[in-house]
Amino acid sequence: MTEDALLCVRTCDKCGKPIRKNQKVFAVSDGKIVHSNELIGLNYEQIYFVCHKGCWDGVAEIG
Ligand SMILES: [Zn+2]
Repeated sequence: MTEDALLCVRTCDKCGKPIRKNQKVFAVSDGKIVHSNELIGLNYEQIYFVCHKGCWDGVAEIG
């Protein structure tokens, strides 16, 4: 499963509209670090919260 596939089926947790490919988002997730050199590679396991970056107001209502 790719990140694209996950994002295609998610809606914004702030405005409720679909999040489309290539839109900038803010996400709360867990996973594990797969690379830790100059760039951090994160292998997502579950995304708890995702919203458009422009909708982010600093509060994640997880649940
Ligand atoms: Zn939104």
